[in-house]
Amino acid sequence: MSTATGQRTFDSLDPATGSVVGTHPVQDARAVRAAVAEAEHAARWWAGLGWAERRRRLLDYKAVVTQNLSRIAEVVHRETGKPEADATLEVILAVTHIDWAARNARRVLGPRRVRPGLVGANLAATLEYLPLGVVGVIGPWNYPVFTPMGSIAYALAAGNAVVFKPSELTPGTGVLLAELFAESVPEQPVFRTVTGLGETGAALAGDPGVKKIAFTGSTATAKRVMTACAANLTPMVAECGGKDALIVDADADVRAAADAALWGAMSNAGQTCVGVERVYVVDAVYDAFMRELTERAATIRAGEDYGPITMPAQLDVIRRHIADAVARGRAVVGGPESVRAPYVDPVIVEDVPEDSPAVREETFGPTVTVKRVADAEEALEKANAGAYGLAGTIFSGNARRAVELARRMRTGMTAINSVISFASVPSLPFGGLGDSGFGRIHGADGLREFARPKGISRQRFALPGMNLTSFARGQKELDQVVRLVTFLHGRRKR
Ligand code: NDP
Repeated sequence: MSTATGQRTFDSLDPATGSVVGTHPVQDARAVRAAVAEAEHAARWWAGLGWAERRRRLLDYKAVVTQNLSRIAEVVHRETGKPEADATLEVILAVTHIDWAARNARRVLGPRRVRPGLVGANLAATLEYLPLGVVGVIGPWNYPVFTPMGSIAYALAAGNAVVFKPSELTPGTGVLLAELFAESVPEQPVFRTVTGLGETGAALAGDPGVKKIAFTGSTATAKRVMTACAANLTPMVAECGGKDALIVDADADVRAAADAALWGAMSNAGQTCVGVERVYVVDAVYDAFMRELTERAATIRAGEDYGPITMPAQLDVIRRHIADAVARGRAVVGGPESVRAPYVDPVIVEDVPEDSPAVREETFGPTVTVKRVADAEEALEKANAGAYGLAGTIFSGNARRAVELARRMRTGMTAINSVISFASVPSLPFGGLGDSGFGRIHGADGLREFARPKGISRQRFALPGMNLTSFARGQKELDQVVRLVTFLHGRRKR
């Protein structure tokens, strides 16, 4: 589509009804370049404000977002189809992250003295984390506030400007988040949104003025973004989803585990990067767990307890995974008939082979596979077998054993006796490994992700007869240093 001025536009649609929610410009590479150039200027101004003023502005933004909670939730609800209550909770979670980033940026990133060591005894050493400049954020549609805000708030708190490209399915949410920021920071476009399709994101990733890209989406697109970043050696954070497993050990609270598995798998119609997609249950409690799970699932319905599938193309993936899982395993709840586009009712399939798409590939729908295992070791081995490594869950009655299993789970985050709880702890880093990507948002690591470490060593006084970095250095000085180093480091302890 295009307007009378020739500007190409696109519509965001309500996935439940297909009606138009909003019309937005398709910003091309030139428009992105102009936005980034303005943001470069804004970044210098924002960095110059200093820690205290940035903190004040970000806390004000937090208040503005909180005051506009229902307005934001309404746009999220219309663009994604998720219930307004879920959208509200998403915004609340984002608010806690803005708050944490604002309050902790100086502590984590500000200048500090570090020990220079004995050899550098005449030096004062300081470490600080400086802003990068302009950070490009490419966001997803499944949590269009919470997920990008995990990068945006931390990048802003670290002193950067942000140019945000929201998903083409949720542009209105992205535009509103930036508009509200301008209420707290009206002077400069420190946080702005560019709208468009994939090519707008590609232009942002390839723009030489962007000093880091924070991407959330599929592994395949992350690789394309990384290729675009390579042109300028632009670093990136990649959050690419997962195939998260929930393990139920023999001594677990089976009712709580079933409740958590169901919510973890079905809430947000399963469109959660850290949602539960696989469950491994130890033999001793398998039957009891399945009874609890199926009883609970029978009361859950798409369109009432959760919304439609936001991205129409995803329905084909969901259909394919269900068909294969049902053919090779046993459908316990629902089946192919559960897909009533744009809705999908809960589907639970047991005993699906580990090499099937429903166990190996991200489904991103309200489906879950359940498998009986001999013990928690077998569960962990199976949980760790996939290419993804984002998050996971362990239900166990033994805290020490659960933590030990959690450590060995090949993921960035693990929740114990609850699902996804790590996402609500702002001080915990969030991110994965393998096909789930790399880099971290949230917490101190999330702040450092958007900053560059700067080390400064200042000579406080000259060490007499110890000027090692001079052509005037003699053998005597070197002998002295060798003696010192041998004394400090040359003794072997057995
Ligand atoms: P994509 O990975 O294609 O999109 C994610 C973001 O990248 C969107 O903003 C998208 O813009 C943008 N984008 C697309 N192409 C490019 C490009 N060449 N250069 C730069 N940016 C680009 O995900 P989809 O929305 O298509 O979803 C596909 C699958 O990804 C899902 O089924 C799910 O499995 C997974 N996913 C995982 C998420 C997670 O939380 N980790 C979130 C969303 C999806 P635009 O929307 O305009 O195309």
